[in-house]
Amino acid sequence: MSSVKVAVRVRPFNNREISRDAECIIEMGGNTTTITNPKAGPKDAKQKSFNFDHSYWSHTSPEDPAFAGQKKVYDDIGLEMLDHAFEGYNVCIFAYGQTGAGKSYTMMGKNEPGQKGIIPLLCEDLFTRISAQRSMDNTFSVEVSYFEIYCERVRDLLNPSNKNALRVREHPLLGPYVEDLSKMAVQSYEDINNLIDEGNKARTVAATNMNETSSRSHAVFTLIFSQRKLDATTKMVGEKVSKISLVDLAGSERADSTGAKGTRLKEGANINKSLTTLGKVISALAEVANKRKKKADFIPYRDSVLTWLLRENLGGNSKTAMVAALSPADINFDETLSTLRYADRAK
Ligand code: ADP
Repeated sequence: MSSVKVAVRVRPFNNREISRDAECIIEMGGNTTTITNPKAGPKDAKQKSFNFDHSYWSHTSPEDPAFAGQKKVYDDIGLEMLDHAFEGYNVCIFAYGQTGAGKSYTMMGKNEPGQKGIIPLLCEDLFTRISAQRSMDNTFSVEVSYFEIYCERVRDLLNPSNKNALRVREHPLLGPYVEDLSKMAVQSYEDINNLIDEGNKARTVAATNMNETSSRSHAVFTLIFSQRKLDATTKMVGEKVSKISLVDLAGSERADSTGAKGTRLKEGANINKSLTTLGKVISALAEVANKRKKKADFIPYRDSVLTWLLRENLGGNSKTAMVAALSPADINFDETLSTLRYADRAK
């Protein structure tokens, strides 16, 4: 049993792909995803297949019985992780893939009926469950933080007036944390929804000011969820605290493929470093979970700010899920194959 649940999801064609008469090179059947190489020479393999925990076909319209909409993805992945959080595990869901492949759509979605992504759906369910379970002897609290990592620097999305990069420190007991990061106590889904809106706006503004795009930063939305329960016989209060991290990663496209220079090249190198380190950390943890190795010799959490800050959500007492977002189009073959390989190594 792997500790990491891995899903892939293919989106509809976008306008650019339609205008270029793109062909769909992804097929899905059961849990298997097959990619066709549109440029295969006589010696190349024409097709390559991968197996994942879930393969989501979101390429056609909702009328297609095979179509996986936002709710399906949430019901499989978000609900399971929410259950784990109630059990007291730390959980992490992250979306990986090239820019435009559907990461934000999967994690945030749109504020329209049936279009909400994993983050708002999970927050909504969290509060529905809290309301149903809350009593004198059973209390809950939720705190939210939302930051982004750009070029290995942390920016607070809930306090955008603080333009300085925040320091990453290590607490002797609680592990790595961001100094002075805003943590907002929330009482309802509406509270969270407002913070999400605020944070998303701050992300766009920061990106515009820096003349970058938000696709070059990792956005980390975190809920600290505490449950306190009075034991009727012992009269002791037991507390479970879980950290739920929901991460929209920077675009995985390689910097060199876009002819990047200067700042762009530096950005690309930093993004690649975080994503490569995340890949290494996850496959090292998967090796241990699959008993291919007894104990991880060395897990390189410290090699990037992203993995360092997610340490408590990835290793140890935690459950992780990854959704790899895929473009369906032949023109993106190289990037899509590299995304599938990345997802494959996480199993
Ligand atoms: P990314 O975050 O990977 O850069 P986005 O999530 O912004 O990509 O997706 C790019 C575009 O494709 C958006 O307009 C989004 O609404 C659309 N899209 C992505 N995935 C889907 C999907 N599964 N169904 C419908 N539209 C999608």
